[in-house]
Amino acid sequence: MLDLASLTDLLTKPQKIVITTHHKPDGDAMGSSLGLYNYLIQQGHHARVIAPTDYPDFLSWLPGNENVIIYTEHREEAAALIADAKLIFCLDFNALSRINDMGELVGESNAYKIMIDHHLEPADFDDYRHWDINACATAQLVYDFIVNELHHKELVNKNVATCLYTGIMTDSASFRLPNTTSGVHRIVADLIDAGAVNWRIHELVYNSASENRLRFLGHCLANCLEVLPEFNTAIIAVNKHDLERFDVETGDTEGVVNYALSMASIRLAAFIVERSDRVKLSLRSKGEFPANEICKKYFNGGGHRNAAGGHSDGSLEQVIQQFKQILPEYKKLLIQ
Ligand code: 5GP
Ligand code: MN
Repeated sequence: MLDLASLTDLLTKPQKIVITTHHKPDGDAMGSSLGLYNYLIQQGHHARVIAPTDYPDFLSWLPGNENVIIYTEHREEAAALIADAKLIFCLDFNALSRINDMGELVGESNAYKIMIDHHLEPADFDDYRHWDINACATAQLVYDFIVNELHHKELVNKNVATCLYTGIMTDSASFRLPNTTSGVHRIVADLIDAGAVNWRIHELVYNSASENRLRFLGHCLANCLEVLPEFNTAIIAVNKHDLERFDVETGDTEGVVNYALSMASIRLAAFIVERSDRVKLSLRSKGEFPANEICKKYFNGGGHRNAAGGHSDGSLEQVIQQFKQILPEYKKLLIQ
């Protein structure tokens, strides 16, 4: 275990540091990781961000992105950095299974592990924890860690602010989810004061689609959407031929599920996609409906109440059927 005083003391000298985040990183995963990275390098630390897998192109403009290592593409280099690190920051995840086979390397490493996260039920692999499920984004917790635990508000420069703004913006669904408190807006105001250009970040993340992505979205809505009015639920299911036909890349499927949820009566939306190795589910819900419970109980996953994910080794058809069979159990919550 490591207390804040010892961690602060360690960080007063340049250290070898690895920052890592979850499989298929999203805006908060990369925003929080690169926000922390841009903070640490100002103090002379040898810091590297290692992403377990690739991530969407709409995040590749983030400051510091050019120094990110993708584990699946540079295994040896990543393994050497992990083995050599004095500190490993684990951001936006709380169980080593979320970083695939990198989990073993991180677990075996003698480095101090610092978890900064906002997901439920953290596993016990860390030495220091800055964890709060009420935070709307891990980027919010990174801000809190830098400003209120390490007392380095002056080191929240334009690059740090830009990355953290991106994390908060994406994980709060553009400041829409219930956990976007007035406190979050105050942090966001500080980030803008520190140099984050809010309108430009929105442009870069949300107006960067390819023609394929738009046509794929059209196909999903026109041909793959199924509405189950008796359960206030909508499903968009996509098979691997659709993915090939529209040349779907990492990130192109992001956010498709939100269109299903945007119908007034819908309380639960599922995006079910047949990937090359397994079927992946993304669930989104409104209000009190616990999407994460379904993912945890039935689909080897988890997440937040209103945004959760999981996967299955069954066929696409089987997963769709299984999902539909689960709905009666939740009917009361879905139709209230
Ligand atoms: P998405 O649907 O965007 O893939 O994931 C939504 C949220 O669900 C993520 O922020 C993450 O917290 C959680 N999530 C997605 N997939 C998994 C999974 O396989 N396991 C766990 N524990 N959480 C997941
Ligand atoms: Mn997050």
